[in-house]
Amino acid sequence: MGSSWLFRNATVVSIDEKIGTVKNCDVLVQDSIISEVAPNISAPSDDTVIIDATNAILSPGFVDTHRHTWQTQLRTVTGDFTLTDYAIHIRNRYGSCYTPEDVYLANLCGALESLDAGTTCLLDHCHILNSPAHADAAVDGLRASRIRGTFCYGLYGNPVFSDPKISDGTALVTDNQDWRHDDARRIREEKFQSNKAEDLLRFGFAPTEVERTPLEQTLNEIQLGRSLGAAIVTGHIAMGSYDRELHLVRILAERKLLGPDLVFSHGAALLEDELKAIKEAGAAISSTPDTELQMGMGQPIAFEAEKHGCTASIGIDITSNNPADMFGQMRLMLQQKRYSEVGSAPPPPRKVAARCEDVLRMATLGGAKALGLSHLTGSITPGKRADLVLTRCDSLRLTPVHDPAIALVLYANASDVDTVLVDGVPVKRDGKLAPTERTVEEVRREYNGSSEIDP
Ligand SMILES: [Zn+2]
Repeated sequence: MGSSWLFRNATVVSIDEKIGTVKNCDVLVQDSIISEVAPNISAPSDDTVIIDATNAILSPGFVDTHRHTWQTQLRTVTGDFTLTDYAIHIRNRYGSCYTPEDVYLANLCGALESLDAGTTCLLDHCHILNSPAHADAAVDGLRASRIRGTFCYGLYGNPVFSDPKISDGTALVTDNQDWRHDDARRIREEKFQSNKAEDLLRFGFAPTEVERTPLEQTLNEIQLGRSLGAAIVTGHIAMGSYDRELHLVRILAERKLLGPDLVFSHGAALLEDELKAIKEAGAAISSTPDTELQMGMGQPIAFEAEKHGCTASIGIDITSNNPADMFGQMRLMLQQKRYSEVGSAPPPPRKVAARCEDVLRMATLGGAKALGLSHLTGSITPGKRADLVLTRCDSLRLTPVHDPAIALVLYANASDVDTVLVDGVPVKRDGKLAPTERTVEEVRREYNGSSEIDP
């Protein structure tokens, strides 16, 4: 396996403003770095892997900025849930049943599912840490997948569940959170010694539900995350019909606690002054279209946030509800925005409210900016890390492609993703996930066993 890769004759959708979209273009990767984007590049060595990208789109990997990866085994469980149902059943019941091995498999399989669909970087808001062993397993599962990401240590305490049919309870420590403060420090020291942007997996922090706990606790927890050197601190805020008008962003702004390390998920009820404060602080928004629209969390605010100059991005949220497929989220958020701007009343629109390229940028470069990684990933730019997705356009559904950005947003799906590189390493080739420490079939078998539900 060579350390250089040459994509030949691709349609490059770079998301780099200077490069734009270029047809019949080559992209050279050397030692994990995108070294050249130009037509007719010569292979630098005999062992360069050459990929014929004729009739295929090469784009930057997607960046998922809000994910609870541990819910992979609960696929389809929340499909008809409101947020209240979700809190009762998932956060207070299923979550308590997870063993460390369940968490390992969930994070491994969840991240593999992302890679399969062209997502090369994710923020894991990990609130399944029922014991220190769960925290170790969560990090190890993500690492084994080879995805780029930020593991955000979650302080939320699942209540102890003692039904012997489902769990013997031995894996659960307590729902008192204080031990997690020390354990977060342990995880940071043991598993994230350098915690630099260039590290494939970084340490982040997720306070207890920031709008459901006393304010001073939230503020202390944010400071704790920062004192541990968390790359990102994240939390759910201003959730549409569930909003309690706490206006946490306003409070953080007043106390000068906003910063570029903060990623706010959801936020449909954010006010204008809060969006302005987020912009000024360089903080970011993550909209999660499927769960927000379904569960009563309001309309995704990403486009509005971007209009106010904020960094806006997209998250999958939970695969208990929807697949880790950014294609679907882009499509849903874009069309919902177009509908909400116009509705069905006259006069008919003179132009659409948002364009496909806008949502594609949020799903790639916007996510990279949100995670403080836009100097490393999020676009096909020489000097950046090679987080790349090759989408084949051989199917009838993608024949012909007159506009490649529109093809990615409105037509493509995970089955069209042929090749994925993360940091220059192939994690999917010829439409198949590359094996990790275990083969994909071995992982699937164990994962099936771990998914058995006896409600
Ligand atoms: Zn969430």
